[in-house]
Amino acid sequence: MSKIYITEDIKNHKKGLEILEKIKNYKLIDDEKAFVKMIHDMNLTNEEEKQYMLFTTKKGNFLKSYYLDDNLSKIKEEFYLSYENNCPFNCLYCYLRDYFNHSAFIFYVNLEDMFAELDKFNKTGSMISAGIVNDTLVHDNLTNVTADLIGYFKDRPKLILELRTKSHNIKNLLEITPSKNILISFTFSPKEVIDRYELRASSLKERIAAAKKLQDYGYSIGLRLDPMIDIEGSDLATKGWSRKFFLPLT
Ligand code: SF4
Repeated sequence: MSKIYITEDIKNHKKGLEILEKIKNYKLIDDEKAFVKMIHDMNLTNEEEKQYMLFTTKKGNFLKSYYLDDNLSKIKEEFYLSYENNCPFNCLYCYLRDYFNHSAFIFYVNLEDMFAELDKFNKTGSMISAGIVNDTLVHDNLTNVTADLIGYFKDRPKLILELRTKSHNIKNLLEITPSKNILISFTFSPKEVIDRYELRASSLKERIAAAKKLQDYGYSIGLRLDPMIDIEGSDLATKGWSRKFFLPLT
């Protein structure tokens, strides 16, 4: 039984048609509200909800801003893109469990509306992140959205695009010419934390290998050390941990 749903209107969008070429087995549903109601009515576990996908169009804004208090207002992390919600990994600390009221994956195909919104954005020097409410690479085989994002930002060198991930699915990135203003950020935690808390995400070894490959290919790599979780035996787990990724990547 297919757990992939679409709304009819995705056929009016280039990205929608591109995705439909890849998913032959899907069901139609009226809208996002009906999809979320269906998920709730089934009373599924978090893991079961994650198996469901919806491809639809977004009515609201794609570009969002963080709330930063005075102490943090100088950092670059102010804006993010929300073209995709949730991800199939199952980090036990994931804040999206509360942020959205379900764990199913939703992708919005009307990317042209996102880029029209970005055309009006004029804060030179800002960093715009993706991967705040999703993982940017895990479903890239299906969406190839990284090609759209990098294709757009490469012509806007005064903005920085950050793609955050815990996935080693870098195949599409290796088919694109890197630009200086594109940053691929990997989250690194000690192996013990990944094994215990970041269920289904790529292993530390896989993330390091993917980051190294992208760096050698010409991408700028971001290292995110968060969240810092104090586990039993933290001293041992973090001993030598940072050298594992700093040495090959710096
Ligand atoms: S990778 Fe990010 S979005 Fe996905 S479950 Fe983990 S914390 Fe949540």
